[in-house]
Amino acid sequence: MSDFLITNALILPMTEARQSFSGYVRVDNGVIADIGAGAPLKTEEDDFVIDAAGCVLMPGLVNAHTHLYQVLLRAVWEDLELMPWLKRIYGCARVLRPEHFYAGSLLGCAEAIRSGVTTLCEHNFLNPSPNCAFETIRAIQDSGLRAVFARTIMDAGEIVPECTKEKPEQAFRRIEEILARHERNDQLQFMTGPNTPPINTTPGLLREIRRFADDKSIGISAHVAESKSVVESVRRQHGKNGVVEFLHEFGIPGPNSIFAHSVHVSKDEIVLLKQTGSSVSHNPVSNMMLGDGVAPVVEMLRQGVNVALGTDGAASNHSQDLFDTIKAASLLQKVHHQDAGVIDPCSVLRMATAGGAKALGLESVCGTIEVGKRADLILVDLDTIHNQPMNDVFSQIVHCAKASDVRTVMINGEIVMQDRHLTGLDEKKILADAKIANRDLMKRVNALSF
Ligand SMILES: [Zn+2]
Repeated sequence: MSDFLITNALILPMTEARQSFSGYVRVDNGVIADIGAGAPLKTEEDDFVIDAAGCVLMPGLVNAHTHLYQVLLRAVWEDLELMPWLKRIYGCARVLRPEHFYAGSLLGCAEAIRSGVTTLCEHNFLNPSPNCAFETIRAIQDSGLRAVFARTIMDAGEIVPECTKEKPEQAFRRIEEILARHERNDQLQFMTGPNTPPINTTPGLLREIRRFADDKSIGISAHVAESKSVVESVRRQHGKNGVVEFLHEFGIPGPNSIFAHSVHVSKDEIVLLKQTGSSVSHNPVSNMMLGDGVAPVVEMLRQGVNVALGTDGAASNHSQDLFDTIKAASLLQKVHHQDAGVIDPCSVLRMATAGGAKALGLESVCGTIEVGKRADLILVDLDTIHNQPMNDVFSQIVHCAKASDVRTVMINGEIVMQDRHLTGLDEKKILADAKIANRDLMKRVNALSF
């Protein structure tokens, strides 16, 4: 007997380019136990069968970079470029409370699951109190999502409020406390990192961070070269040509490092990313919203850099919908290069699945449909007006499908959404609590001067 037998699905395993076939997947003890074309040879009477006729069965999506609580700040500061926008985001640390982090993060998780996300990387950077991190982790755990919690550090910067600036030793102690309080396993992993070097981190912190990460066997997450202004800062303050080049001096790039954005990186820095085995989280919707520029994704892929996709926080994306981001990632490269064939839908879907899993050190756990991997699976209903008729399933998942087509979501062999219903979460309560948290937060934010 298996936990689940999913039959009649159009399966996209995402292991090889353009592979798709009609078949079944058997899930046993949370693990993918069998995959086959056609109908299964044998069905036990007590198998729990999910008939996936009309649906694509694919790996759960990986959102490689977000700030969940920011759903409370959707559409608050829309017309600002990165630096003045960041000043306001950081300024919120003066009024953000742990309860805002819990309510916002849980709403963000619910939205993520409803868009087919099964794994996300929460890049945490505002910690006026240690409970802000604890409450974010609690929300993620309550949601059932697989996650990497990246507890990053800021120790400098004019626009960073004192309440969230930390000396490296103090931050490391707090991260040690997070590690001590939580079991590290496939479901929950941890990272650290400089938040946005060099604008809010000193060379002293950067020197210490690689040592600390290696000592604790955790990865590194950082915002890298998001806008031209960050690159100008690294030139002015440190005489370096780019942020990646600067970080290389401190050993920050590496196989367990994920660099969000990487919009303004040179050809030499792309080579450096490849040589060091670093991954990039491409966040096209956020980059477009803030007017940052276009990341050289095609060049990075050509050089063999592992690229993942991220929504970024809802304060610069408005949503946690990874399907939006998938479509934007495809279209943005086409218009940027003025070449409709510059990127193919398979490469984009790979970034949202296997690329994301690799970036988060979870390539042996999830990101593809393979025997032995954890059962992080989604069923996307393509038998709908905007998805039919079907000519090219890869292109249509990227360019036609919407988050609302995700019917069922399984994480670790547990169904967390069935026929659009979140099985383990009270959606009405999550929404009501988030509205209360939003009203309270905005009252406090509106009393601030930036
Ligand atoms: Zn970010």
